[in-house]
Amino acid sequence: MRKTIIAGNWKLFKTIPEAIDLANGIKRELLDCVNVDVVLCPVYTALSEVAEIIQDTDIKLGAQDLYWQDEGAFTGEVSGKMLLDAGCSYVIIGHSERRQFFAETNETVNKKIKAALKIGLTPIVCCGEMLAEREAGNTFKVLDDHIKNGLTGLSEEEALKIVIAYEPVWAIGTGKTASPIQAQEAHKYIRDQLAKLYNKDTADAIRLQYGGSVKPENITELMKQPDVDGALVGGASLQVASFSEIVKKASTVKK
Ligand code: PEP
Repeated sequence: MRKTIIAGNWKLFKTIPEAIDLANGIKRELLDCVNVDVVLCPVYTALSEVAEIIQDTDIKLGAQDLYWQDEGAFTGEVSGKMLLDAGCSYVIIGHSERRQFFAETNETVNKKIKAALKIGLTPIVCCGEMLAEREAGNTFKVLDDHIKNGLTGLSEEEALKIVIAYEPVWAIGTGKTASPIQAQEAHKYIRDQLAKLYNKDTADAIRLQYGGSVKPENITELMKQPDVDGALVGGASLQVASFSEIVKKASTVKK
């Protein structure tokens, strides 16, 4: 049984006071929601404050990126060691916005996954195709590339510790969601590739999140898909009401 996991990617939003308000609101709403792993991923500057708010709950803290070195002359970067220090247990790696705007590649994703695992952080590894790639019929080719090259050199034991988020780029922040069938098709493909890279048991144990305009209105149908184990939520994670409703609805879907 794969436990449902819903993560909120707050992207470049929320000052520290705003992050405190949002985290307090989510904590209030989700105190009883224990059958879902909930992860909040604020900006770096708000990590410690959010950590303090959720420390007495099951809600976990995640960062939106990391650098693969522990420390050194790398101006502007934040390491896994520092994220751990700030209270994180998860870290998003390879988000499409980082691939598009910050020159993230499968190679850097791979280094970051290894660094996260080495320090004890759970990587949420993002993959997914752009609209042009889908329209050209290359969705599976892109997923293959992101998965095989992103996970290069990971042992079975390490692979079991990661979460993968399938995020079709054309659905992120656009209001367009992949249909539940499209999401299931991509998730099934990813799981099949994981089975080829490792084995069926390992593939069956790895949690796969869907991301791309997830809202309270579409979470239930997405979660009903056999290979959708949760969601990585952007826009709708910025409001207490919408994020809490997504988590609560996801928690009621029986697999
Ligand atoms: C995301 O940021 O990973 C995301 C899926 O954003 P949104 O939910 O806004 O599409």
